[in-house]
Amino acid sequence: MSENTKKTVELPASITIRDLGERIGSSPIQIIKILMNNGVMANINQIIDFDTAAVVCAELNMDAALEIPEISEEEHGEIPLWRKLIEDEAPENLVKRPPVVTILGHVDHGKTTLLDAIRHTNVAGEESGGITQHIGAYQVVHNSRKITFLDTPGHAAFTAMRARGAQGADIVVLVVAANDGVMPQTKEAIAHAKAARVPIIVALNKIDRDDANPDMVKKQLADAGLVSDEWDGDTIIVPVSAKMKMGLEDLLEAITLVADSNTILANPKGKVIGTVIEAKVDKARGVVATLLVQNGTLYLGDAVVVGLSHGKIKAMYDYYGEKIEEAGPATPIQILGLNEVPQAGDLFQVTASDKEARAIVEDRKAKIAEDKQKKKQASLEDIFSRFQAGELRDLRLIIKADVQGSLDPIISTLNDIDQKEIKINVLHAETGNISESDIMLASASNAIVVGFNVEADSSANKLAEAEGISIRLYSIIYRLTEDIEKALKGMLEPEKHEVVLGKAHVLAVFSFSKVGKIAGCKVIEGIIRRNASMRVIRNGQTIFEGEVASLRREKENVRDVREGFECGIRVKGFNDFSEGDILECYTFEEVPAG
Ligand code: GDP
Repeated sequence: MSENTKKTVELPASITIRDLGERIGSSPIQIIKILMNNGVMANINQIIDFDTAAVVCAELNMDAALEIPEISEEEHGEIPLWRKLIEDEAPENLVKRPPVVTILGHVDHGKTTLLDAIRHTNVAGEESGGITQHIGAYQVVHNSRKITFLDTPGHAAFTAMRARGAQGADIVVLVVAANDGVMPQTKEAIAHAKAARVPIIVALNKIDRDDANPDMVKKQLADAGLVSDEWDGDTIIVPVSAKMKMGLEDLLEAITLVADSNTILANPKGKVIGTVIEAKVDKARGVVATLLVQNGTLYLGDAVVVGLSHGKIKAMYDYYGEKIEEAGPATPIQILGLNEVPQAGDLFQVTASDKEARAIVEDRKAKIAEDKQKKKQASLEDIFSRFQAGELRDLRLIIKADVQGSLDPIISTLNDIDQKEIKINVLHAETGNISESDIMLASASNAIVVGFNVEADSSANKLAEAEGISIRLYSIIYRLTEDIEKALKGMLEPEKHEVVLGKAHVLAVFSFSKVGKIAGCKVIEGIIRRNASMRVIRNGQTIFEGEVASLRREKENVRDVREGFECGIRVKGFNDFSEGDILECYTFEEVPAG
């Protein structure tokens, strides 16, 4: 590594100038000056976004990297439904199927170029003339084995699928430019792939460039949790140049290797299951959907139900645009014949008839309407109950406000809320209306969307309804923070605090060989209870605390003794009463939430 490698600092999506100063070891005044020179007027408590903070860092000769919150496996490691469905197949019927690969990475690192390069070198048979249109996925053959590539690159598509619990990919190829290194979207992609439990292969791209610095990038990748197998880690890093078509065979080889070590199986004769890759309406052809068959074999003429649409497959095409009549596991196909446009990530299945398919859709629609009603009332509460069940560890918020001037006080007031037990985690704070991508993020990460003096776009509202995401709109900051605070209190384990019930004065001590010592007392304050704890106080000092062992009045066991009455008290584990001791009786009560 070169001596003058710039220091990289990790920063969140938004940060106050004060916090930025602390993180980068610079004075807030200096930061404010830099911002002023760049035409941004800011005060010390002002929240600036990552890009602005990155500019400040650059001026101070540092690199800024986006801090990506770790998504732990148990939090988000959902197993897609189709994989669960395949678990029903008898093991002896399962055979290897081609792996499905998706390409993720930072913008401009070469995802599209890589997908094109692989397609051109490995798909296009001389005579077929190659693929004339993209259907959202294609297959290549490497050493006579097929690999399926999803060719809508970028994590937006992946996130959309993941938010629907249905990602289809078995392997993620993470494209990282060798001259640019690990960037914010690289980290985001790593987080998503890990959360979805999909193995990652790194394509270290642009290796042809003079300024390529593979070692530096490998180090950055190791820091981001992907340690190269050359360094005894378990991530395969393949140097490639998508532009020069170099290293592509090695990349395909790595994919088959990883596929072999992850059992990727299906039953070609089993129940037909698959996922929608993309879908649209074509003026001439009607609804056109690209499906990935994940189990079983789909035939022309089959009746299918896909999310909320259904129909008989009128035509089926492969990725060359050639008509086909059947498609087995891991095959991407385009179909015609659905009555409505399904959504990417929807699962499909084959039914005995279109009539049955229609009935399933009706059922689903009814169920959605019912759930929507329930979710509307329950989503916030639902998040809280999931919290209480230990499924969530923080209250995640996506905050949208009309102006930066509103965002700052909202965030600082939220920060003032007691977060000892439950953390408020602002995943995203931005000015502007609530959009579809906010809802998508909320859905993928179990967050609530909070709007201040903004509206939700109609498409966002629709999506929120479908996904059961709670959007809460406010126009008074106080109401917003009060609601969140209330919510947090509702989420808190009921807090218990001590309540003193009463006090007794030890007048005499009686010894009994069988039970030990009994304090003969007079209750001087409040009440003494048997089902409570007792503190023995001598000369103002607590010398023992324990449970009440017995409470008697005139040889009778009693539940409680009131002020002014005499009684005999034993305390578990204590046998050393002395005349003049004060016994303080106490219990624990829940602090009411409110
Ligand atoms: P995407 O945003 O990740 O899909 O990136 P693109 O595939 O659009 O590539 C961004 C830019 O990088 C384009 O100008 C490509 O020509 C260039 N590029 C992609 N791969 C390579 C490579 O291997 N070497 C070089 N030198 N340039 C590349």
